[in-house]
Amino acid sequence: MKKVDVPFIYSPLYSALDLPPRHRYPIEKYRLLKDWAIKHGAKSNQWFTPQPLNWEQVSATHCTHYLTQLRENSIDKAAWRRIGFPWSKPLLKRTLTSAGGTLLTMKQALINGIAIHFSGGYHHAHKDWGSGFCLLNDLAIACNEILRNAPNLKIAVLDTDVHQGDGTATLFANDHRVFTCSIHGERNFPFSKARSDLDIALRKDTSDKEYLAELQRVLEFIRDHVKPDLILYDAGVDIYQRDELGHLNISLAGIFQRDLAVLNFAKQQNIPIAAVIGGGYQRNLERLVRAHAQLLRASYYLYTESKPLEGKIYEV
Ligand SMILES: [Zn+2]
Repeated sequence: MKKVDVPFIYSPLYSALDLPPRHRYPIEKYRLLKDWAIKHGAKSNQWFTPQPLNWEQVSATHCTHYLTQLRENSIDKAAWRRIGFPWSKPLLKRTLTSAGGTLLTMKQALINGIAIHFSGGYHHAHKDWGSGFCLLNDLAIACNEILRNAPNLKIAVLDTDVHQGDGTATLFANDHRVFTCSIHGERNFPFSKARSDLDIALRKDTSDKEYLAELQRVLEFIRDHVKPDLILYDAGVDIYQRDELGHLNISLAGIFQRDLAVLNFAKQQNIPIAAVIGGGYQRNLERLVRAHAQLLRASYYLYTESKPLEGKIYEV
């Protein structure tokens, strides 16, 4: 088995944001997932700390008027409500750092074959507006930065967060270099769906078996018709049956099988894969982190011979 120390991209800024009490966003999960990884054997040489992107890098994806409004806190109240975070300078820095993190993850994936970002997946951010906790679309920003240096690369964005990747779909609607695919809940946010290159809309209470069969069909489509040079994988865990915002019936074992199937596909096809952890909103943070940790477990399982997976393949 080929051994790789999977690069982990993390910044302490990800959880360093003051939010009002009972805010829906589980801001602590990033730090807790990093702690989980360390507890389960992550080595010091695996960690990479991203830097915030500058506003000019971001302006290749978002409109400058929107970026000025964000910087100056001059977006009207209704538009801010749609985003769902209170405006603050740390929020802007965190957002730019997260975009830098997804870019660094893609670069590390091109070097190592795989890399995992302990943030990212802000897929509801559009060219000139944000929504659903997404100000800037890190996925699109990172793809555009990679393509600026390697214009002939073909990238597949495989978004398995339970919510449709509407911002990413719209931003790349006219760019054939980026294939956008979203597997999501049919009757979930955003209620007005965009059009990805491939959309799989799942009904409420979709089971592990149905989900994994759909995923297999998607992977075969990507293999046969897209043939990407790089995959950007959004491994959101709001598909979990215990997620308050999900409405699918996917078990923890199902999440592990999904992550394993995607990472294994990339490995077998020899396609570098950059993964971001995406959404996941359970109020129970221990369970939430355990769900996100399945991505790390899948990577250990495929890329190392170290011990974290001995015994049980997943924790229930
Ligand atoms: Zn989501």
